[in-house]
Amino acid sequence: MNKEYDYVIVGAGIAGCSTAYFLSKYSKSILLIDRNSDVAFGASGAAGAFLSPLLGKPNKFKDLISKSLIFSTQFYKNLGNEFISNCGVNRIPKNQEDREKFESYKPYIDFDYEVMDDGYFFKIGSQVIPSLICEFLTKNVEKKLSFEVLNIEQNSDNSWQINKQVKAKNLILTTGADVKHIKEEYFDIRAVWGQKIDISTSTQTQINYHKECSVSKAFKIENSDLYKVSIGATHHKFDCDKNICNYCIENANINECSKCYNSTIINKDSQKLIELASDIVKLDNIKVVDVKIGARASSNDYFPMLGKLVDSKKSIEKFPHLLNGTHIKDSMLETIENLFVINGVGGRGFVLSPYLANQLVENIINKKEIEEEIKTHRLFKRWAKKQKNKKK
Ligand SMILES: Cc1cc2nc3c(=O)[nH]c(=O)nc-3n(C[C@H](O)[C@H](O)[C@H](O)COP(=O)(O)OP(=O)(O)OC[C@H]3O[C@@H](n4cnc5c(N)ncnc54)[C@H](O)[C@@H]3O)c2cc1C
Repeated sequence: MNKEYDYVIVGAGIAGCSTAYFLSKYSKSILLIDRNSDVAFGASGAAGAFLSPLLGKPNKFKDLISKSLIFSTQFYKNLGNEFISNCGVNRIPKNQEDREKFESYKPYIDFDYEVMDDGYFFKIGSQVIPSLICEFLTKNVEKKLSFEVLNIEQNSDNSWQINKQVKAKNLILTTGADVKHIKEEYFDIRAVWGQKIDISTSTQTQINYHKECSVSKAFKIENSDLYKVSIGATHHKFDCDKNICNYCIENANINECSKCYNSTIINKDSQKLIELASDIVKLDNIKVVDVKIGARASSNDYFPMLGKLVDSKKSIEKFPHLLNGTHIKDSMLETIENLFVINGVGGRGFVLSPYLANQLVENIINKKEIEEEIKTHRLFKRWAKKQKNKKK
């Protein structure tokens, strides 16, 4: 017989695990599913997981990142000191042009900083440990791991059937760059692949740095005089298989794929990261001890997507003049019942996810409104307008 849950979450990265955590305050009937054999094995397992402020002139995206950074830093700190290294980050301009930009941003910087060496030191800068955090957030949540979701169908009562094996009153998709189960055309995600390496070194860095890459504070390696330092990350757009587990890169036949992240690119990226890091801080006796790759899920406008999905077919049937560019209030659009998403967290998933997951759960349980900029409605409306132009 099918097992039934009030909430099924597909995707056990930082977005899904944060959602499970906030939801578990309200419900005991939650199942967290992932195709991998443990949590944080997708992009979340590849992340350097640095938390750093966004600098720039005032705009809505910067506001979102600043609010999320404050919320998420406090959230991780409340979990316990072992989950976060709040050692600060020195943000170093890349070149003279970048330095001038930094200067022009000074009136709009949302966080305390002081000038340090070549850069600007922000106390709020941190790094977190993805696997520890995701495990802790979901320790009381039922999980179904090594379970690939192949098929999702909606029942006549608006509940969901997953692989004809699990029934969910509400389904939450936090599947990162793999959005094949989201059938809406306007829901467009680009996979931005990247690599992070861990090195052993005899140099003891005391803080995080960010210039063209990020370099972490050093952590002592047990029974050794050496330290572990993380260096991230690179960016590529490949048409790769998104079904990749960071902990089984070799098993994913990645080296056999000439189009995407093959061993040549992995080695080149490791070299590049070491060079970029050496431009920030002198690191002695370097040896690469771990390499992880992953696909960041990026939206076209860089904002994340949160909440219900607009049902494009039903909305257009109800308001055909949407295709003529007529404005319809968000609240009038038809949405898909009992289906929710968190996606598009891009290169800042560890900054955004706790903030977004809390907002999603407050929306589902307490009907609190989701911020305008991050709802899926904006994407639907832009897509609908383009359909009108296509018709011409
Ligand atoms: C190299 C690199 C460095 C990064 N550095 C940082 C950083 O310093 N700071 C920062 O904040 N962010 C960083 N990021 C970004 C961050 O990793 C992502 O934004 C975040 O991990 C995305 O989390 P997620 O939960 O949305 O996706 P994921 O972690 O990818 O989780 C999605 C999960 O869904 C599962 N899934 C998908 N489809 C199915 C299916 N059909 N059936 C079952 N399971 C399924 C996958 O197996 C996966 O585990 C980095 C990313 C990369 C790649």
